[in-house]
Amino acid sequence: AGATVDHSDRKVPVGVDPTRASIARVYDAFLGGKDNYEIDRQVFQSVQKVAPEAQELALENRGFLIRACRFLAGQAGISQFLDCGSGLPTAENIHQVVQRINPDARVVYIDNDPVVLAHGRALLEENDRTHFVSADIFHPEEILENQEIRQYLDFSEPLAFLQLGTLHHYDGPRERPARIMREYVDALPSGSYIAISHFLDPENEHSELARRMEHVFLHSPMGSGTFRTRAELLELFCGLELVDPGLTFCAEWWPDGPRTRPLSPVQQSIAGGVARKP
Ligand code: SAM
Repeated sequence: AGATVDHSDRKVPVGVDPTRASIARVYDAFLGGKDNYEIDRQVFQSVQKVAPEAQELALENRGFLIRACRFLAGQAGISQFLDCGSGLPTAENIHQVVQRINPDARVVYIDNDPVVLAHGRALLEENDRTHFVSADIFHPEEILENQEIRQYLDFSEPLAFLQLGTLHHYDGPRERPARIMREYVDALPSGSYIAISHFLDPENEHSELARRMEHVFLHSPMGSGTFRTRAELLELFCGLELVDPGLTFCAEWWPDGPRTRPLSPVQQSIAGGVARKP
C-alpha cells in the first residue's frame, strides 16, 4: 500500500499527518477497527463521554448500509453502485454485500482520505468489478465528469448512488448539501436509487443529547458532524419518492428481526432512507 514511515505502533502512509484526526479514521475507531491513531480514538472517547452508547451511531449506520444495499442489489435489481465516501475497509464492504447477491454487480468507491486510498486500493479492489477512485464528493461536477468513474459505470443505466454517513461531514454552509444532492440527482438516469444516512436531531427528549454530540464533533480535532432535523434530511432526497418505510431511524429501516428493547437515545440520532428516481 505505498511507502510508509514508522509512527509508534502503526505504519503511517507518507503524506498523512497522524497528529490530525480524520473522518475515516475516527469512524474506524467507532467501529472498533485498527486503522486509527490516538488522535482519532480521542475523538471517539470524547463523544462517549457525553453519550456512552456513541458507538451505536456507527453500528446502526453500517447495519442500514448492509440492509439497504441488499435491497438495492436484490429486489430493486440494481447492478451498479457509486459509493460516495467509502470509508476504510471493514467487515461486509459494499461490494461483498452486493456481489454475493449479484456477482456481476459493479461497485465504485470514492474517498479523498489518503489512508483510505492506501488501504482501499489494496483491500477493496478485490476483483475487476470493484474499483476505488480518489475524488471530492462535495464537488458533484468533478464526480460526474470523472472519466475513471465513467469507465466503470454506465450512466445510461440505473445505478445506486450512496451517500452514507457523508453529508453530515460537509463543513460549509448548512443549506449546501441539499444543492449538492440536487446536482447528483439531476444527473442520475431514470430508475436509479439514492440512499442517504445522516446524523439526526430527533426533535424529542433526546434532542439535547444530539446537540451535545454535535458540539463535541464540531469542536474536536475532526471538526465536522452536523445533526439535521427530519425536515432538513428530507430536502436531501430532492423530492424523490422514498421507498417503504421512508426516512426513519437507521435501526428501524427493515431491521433483521423484531425489536426486543426500546431504541436508545443514540439509536434515535441517526436516520436513513432510500428513494427512487422515476
Ligand atoms: N460510507 C461509509 C459508511 O457509511 O460506513 C463510511 C462513512 S465515514 C463516516 C465518511 C467517509 O467520507 C470517510 O471515509 C471520509 O474520508 C469520506 N469523506 C469525507 N469528506 C469527503 C470528501 N469531500 N470527498 C470524498 N470523501 C469524503
